[in-house]
Amino acid sequence: MKLLQDTVRREGIVLNDQVLKVDAFLNHQIDPAFMLAVGKQFADLFAEEAITKVVTIESSGIAPAMMTAMQLQVPLLFARKHKSLTLTSDIYTETVYSYTKQVSNEITVSKKFLHPTDNVLIIDDFLANGEAAFGLARIVEQAEARVAGIGIVIEKSFQPGRQKLLDAGYRVESLVRIASLEKGQVTFVENNVM
Ligand code: 5GP
Repeated sequence: MKLLQDTVRREGIVLNDQVLKVDAFLNHQIDPAFMLAVGKQFADLFAEEAITKVVTIESSGIAPAMMTAMQLQVPLLFARKHKSLTLTSDIYTETVYSYTKQVSNEITVSKKFLHPTDNVLIIDDFLANGEAAFGLARIVEQAEARVAGIGIVIEKSFQPGRQKLLDAGYRVESLVRIASLEKGQVTFVENNVM
């Protein structure tokens, strides 16, 4: 997505060879017009999939997932990172390890909001090792619902997440793919301009 590549070039900050900071437009300050364009792109990519629900993880996934859900006219459901006080029998739970933060989070979703008839589009802000996406997919599958695809705003293609998800049989659509963050520079995977 050309708009996203330009925004990453202009506003992204390379913290080190592994981590890109995007708090100017994606996960702290949010540009609504830009996020709407992101949502439209995901909605176009998955238009033929008869999606019934968009699922993401709090908090950074919510903005792109919300715009996508609005375009597809389906509900958005976000997994929580902290258990609420409801009975554990009422929730689906998975453990997700974050390499960036070096912590494990229990993510939870209420059983009320996922059903075997659901055809789910998973959305997240970043794809690195695939932990978050796999955790969400396992939750969808606990509910015996179907994962129709996984939409990622920024994929770090030099990390193994994409390949692991493809190997597991999931459709993965990333709006930008980063080949490298070496030498403080963002290099995109070629032929990735939608
Ligand atoms: P994964 O679960 O695929 O290993 O990592 C994805 C999650 O880690 C995303 O939900 C995102 O919050 C966080 N993350 C991974 N890499 C980056 C990065 O380079 N920058 C930022 N800001 N977050 C990242």
